[in-house]
Amino acid sequence: MALLTIHEPGQTPLPHEEERKLAVGIDLGTTNSVVAMSRDEKSEVLRNPDGGSAIVPSVVHYASDGTVTVGEAARDLIDSQASQVVSSVKRLMGRGLEDVKSVAGTLPYHVEIPDAPTGDDAASAGPQMVRLNVGNRVLTPVEVSADILRALKARAEAALEQDVDHAVITVPAYFDDAARTATKDAAKLAGIEVLRLVNEPTAAALAYGLDNGAEGLYAVYDLGGGTFDISLLKMQKGVFQVKSTGGDAALGGDDFDHAIVENILAARKADGIDDTIDASAAKRLLKVARAIKEALTARDQVDVAVDINDSETTHSITRAGFDAMIVKMVERTVSITEQVLDDADVLPEDIKGVVLVGGSTRVPAVRAAVASLFGQEPLSNIDPDEVVAVGAALQAEALTGGSDNLLLDVIPLSLGLETMGGIVEKVVDRNTPIPVAKGQEFTTYQDGQNAMMIHVVQGEREMVDQCRSLARFVLSGIPPMAAGAARIRVEFQVDADGLLTVSAREETTGIEQEVAVKPTYGINEIDMANMLRDSMVNARGDMELRLLTEARVEARRNILAVQAAMKADAELLDEGDKNTIAAAIAELEAAMQGDDRQIINDLAEALETASRPFAEKRMDRGIRRALAGQNVNSVRT
Ligand code: ADP
Ligand code: MG
Repeated sequence: MALLTIHEPGQTPLPHEEERKLAVGIDLGTTNSVVAMSRDEKSEVLRNPDGGSAIVPSVVHYASDGTVTVGEAARDLIDSQASQVVSSVKRLMGRGLEDVKSVAGTLPYHVEIPDAPTGDDAASAGPQMVRLNVGNRVLTPVEVSADILRALKARAEAALEQDVDHAVITVPAYFDDAARTATKDAAKLAGIEVLRLVNEPTAAALAYGLDNGAEGLYAVYDLGGGTFDISLLKMQKGVFQVKSTGGDAALGGDDFDHAIVENILAARKADGIDDTIDASAAKRLLKVARAIKEALTARDQVDVAVDINDSETTHSITRAGFDAMIVKMVERTVSITEQVLDDADVLPEDIKGVVLVGGSTRVPAVRAAVASLFGQEPLSNIDPDEVVAVGAALQAEALTGGSDNLLLDVIPLSLGLETMGGIVEKVVDRNTPIPVAKGQEFTTYQDGQNAMMIHVVQGEREMVDQCRSLARFVLSGIPPMAAGAARIRVEFQVDADGLLTVSAREETTGIEQEVAVKPTYGINEIDMANMLRDSMVNARGDMELRLLTEARVEARRNILAVQAAMKADAELLDEGDKNTIAAAIAELEAAMQGDDRQIINDLAEALETASRPFAEKRMDRGIRRALAGQNVNSVRT
């Protein structure tokens, strides 16, 4: 089983949508979600027809009668109907049962962990899906996310007074393939076609128009309610690449609320009041603390009265006092950021711009810490709750043809196929913008070959064993044909999310096989850089080896063809012909053991010369046979 290149018919980009469709941008957040719409590169967040907040809490309530409520109203029921409300479902997207066990206890609802399937089921089930017991229903995270997306779609349709079927949805940069696929599945369930999944930090950078600005490195600092994420983006020719990411999935504004609660309880204890409180009092106090925190963003001091356990106390909390309560947590975000910079070999002063995302970046102490770390004022004039949705909306407009500054991701490393002798035939070159579809035709190497191994690889080197193997599959059922007669078209398609599908089709019979792979999965920047460096360092040697291998493959093919002909038409050969050809083959085979491709090529030509008389006899006879029984007129045309 082998492959041999015939020709490359060229590239056909995926067809563009003819008609202009309406597409929105959706920030599908852990705590809150936002939907926005852009026209003429001006985007606005969409609110309910009666105005109000753009923020839709990512909370869903499932009533016993089947009614589903999303957002503010659902969040108001968290305390009274805890078992029927789902929040923070994003933390479960694409998670296998194993990793969910670790977060299950921290979620307010029951996560069902079914027994592992056995027998046939185990093989076909794939990764086990997490299920949630909510009220009397059993739901997957994808279904819950779909309910949130349905609510956002409805909000957009009400605000825009027309159908909305397309969206760009943002996901955290660290989301893996499974979580991205789960997000797309949720959209499909909600009747939304995803134009593209965009990384949240990339969307934030787009909102600030950084794609139109100077090339270089940018940092996106995202501090939300429960999570902290820091991302370094590299902008080059209008294209963002996530260079590295870091964060803490259990650090956010909610922890600031807890710090205030502890501070209040400690002050009460100092006054001799019992500091043990029950769950409902704790919830009430957390709400008060959150209000204090948010008020301190605009004011220097907040006074509150706290009445729990039948004793009322008054507290005066100053901005400086609050800053002291959270200083350790803010420092932690700074040290994580320093670590990420360090890992990427980047100094804070190398960063061209810093973008703030997430409600907690409104806290003045947080802004000050970020500004001092990078030695520059972070960008903050777009609402940090809305900036991701705004960027997604701009991207949605660009993808629907509303603007010509289309953000394109590129293929980081070339994609190709293994051909005879372990040579890599590149099909899609590195830095090709996605989405892209490219095809190439291959043929069989041997007479009667009925199967072909399709081996998909990634990398810049010329030989397969120095590239990364992505997938292998066999195209079988090729009808018996002479070597080189079968036409196998191999098609590479990389969609907007970087998912690669490779299909192989034998054109005369239509038999087809395909396989889907994620080329960037499991590969990091460092591996990538190493692979690129190796390819440059070894370029000359690789090319020599490739040419030598090609010479050997070509020589072997000639020998096989001559031997097949000698067997088929032995009666046309006299002893002299036979000996000359055999000698030429022996000489060529000896040269093929060596490393001199010039000698191999010369001796391959010598074999051709030696077998020419025989080839001519075969041709003569072939023509005579073809003419037999036909009159001259019918062949003259
Ligand atoms: P997530 O990304 O987790 O969905 P958000 O980005 O919406 O969360 O951020 C929510 C957090 O932002 C909450 O902890 C909230 O208290 C905090 N927050 C919102 N407004 C302010 C404010 N004015 N000052 C301080 N914190 C705020
Ligand atoms: Mg967020």
